Amino acid sequence: MEFIESLPRRPTRYSPDSQVAGELAQTFLAPPPEQGRDLKGLLQKLDGAIDCALETAGPGYMAYIPGGGLYTSALAEFYARSTNRYGGNAFPAPALTALEESVLRWMAQDVCGLPKGSTGLLTTGGSMATFSAVITAREDRLGEEFTRGTVYVGDHAHHSVRKAARLAGISARNIRVVPSGENLRMDVRVAAEMIRQDRAAGRRPFLLVGSAGTTDTGTVDPLPALADLAAEERLWFHVDAAYGGFFRLTERGRRQLAGTEQADSVTLDPHKSLFLPFGTGALVVRDPTKLYAAHEGTGSYLQDLTSEGGLPDYSHMGPELTREIRGLRVWLPLHVHGVSAFREALDEKLNLAERVHDRLSGLPGLEVPWHPDLSIVAFRVRPRDSGAAAAEAADEATRELLMKINNDPRVLISSTVVDGRQTLRVCIIIHRTHEDRVDELLDIIEEHCPVTEVK
Ligand SMILES: *Cc1c(COP(=O)(O)O)cnc(C)c1O
Repeated sequence: MEFIESLPRRPTRYSPDSQVAGELAQTFLAPPPEQGRDLKGLLQKLDGAIDCALETAGPGYMAYIPGGGLYTSALAEFYARSTNRYGGNAFPAPALTALEESVLRWMAQDVCGLPKGSTGLLTTGGSMATFSAVITAREDRLGEEFTRGTVYVGDHAHHSVRKAARLAGISARNIRVVPSGENLRMDVRVAAEMIRQDRAAGRRPFLLVGSAGTTDTGTVDPLPALADLAAEERLWFHVDAAYGGFFRLTERGRRQLAGTEQADSVTLDPHKSLFLPFGTGALVVRDPTKLYAAHEGTGSYLQDLTSEGGLPDYSHMGPELTREIRGLRVWLPLHVHGVSAFREALDEKLNLAERVHDRLSGLPGLEVPWHPDLSIVAFRVRPRDSGAAAAEAADEATRELLMKINNDPRVLISSTVVDGRQTLRVCIIIHRTHEDRVDELLDIIEEHCPVTEVK
């Protein structure tokens, strides 16, 4: 509790004196001692390690896609781990399996808008969820002969999608990257053309992946058009909503993410837009029998564990066998705070992103090329003209600006490359980030950014 209360005052990053950090890391590489040590002393040492880290839980952390981590979820985790019930099958702990199933049905049906009967699997993160989605799509559409199986992803899609396809045995040449238009959204007409050409050339298109909020800019692909294309071409339609998914709890988010309801499967990351601590992702699917078909497997030593209560056996729906009761860390926060608390917090983040966009757009030294679909705002130093030399000078100035902003211990943002240009991004998704801290960030940016375009 003391730690949580101190979060607004804690610096967003540890001392840049990397020698101290390096030495501390060295001491933690030591093997365990033969004789046990005092717990209090060990906890004190751990506090040092906690301080030697990016402050990923505090209000000033607006880099990458952070996750603040709800304390109620940590409590749930302590409870689940201390009682240590088995979560791989329903029989060993049916009521707890039902609890986990309740949050999955809520995510599939209430959040994503998939039909009755849809549900899914809690994973350790979005990457694992997408991995199981690709395996399920492959099994469902191609069976065992998948050497010519071909996947379509947008050029701004998260790299975990391409990684999942490779892990699922899809050859790199059959992972097709569909270009985006200037608005950074996947070009559906180009995708359709690529699919037709690939089919004519003997490839077997089977999976189309749309982004419900890209990591760079939070841009949402034209999901309804992609769903139609997938249906026409008989492809599995997967939506990567790892960042954006839970914005569907808000009215604006539901509008932006329309089309998600048409997906065959959706990746969600409660450890991002549901404010949970790191380590919880989710895959929800329209038809859970397809998850079973792709992941089922058992051994005779498990024959006493079969259940008939209509509850799911999660070990038959994903790669893992032994697992904790993963649902409690989602269930307890939802029941303690109520869904409306999450809806309001996410609405606030959308408002804050608008605030950032409006104020940065008013600074002549910056360009803010895209209005935020969700809670990420991208910006960069404005070049003097459209020439290559000016772009290079602006890129350099953008990098300098990032250094100056992040030198301030109250905030931390991150950078990326969009359209070949150095681009900074503010991502507001920590429940502890409010207007006061966002205004501090805006003041810091204004103080350091060039007054006019770079000359
Ligand atoms: C974070 C993210 C992922 C990967 O999820 P992990 O939980 O980090 O494995 C996938 N897609 C998008 C859009 C993301 O933002």
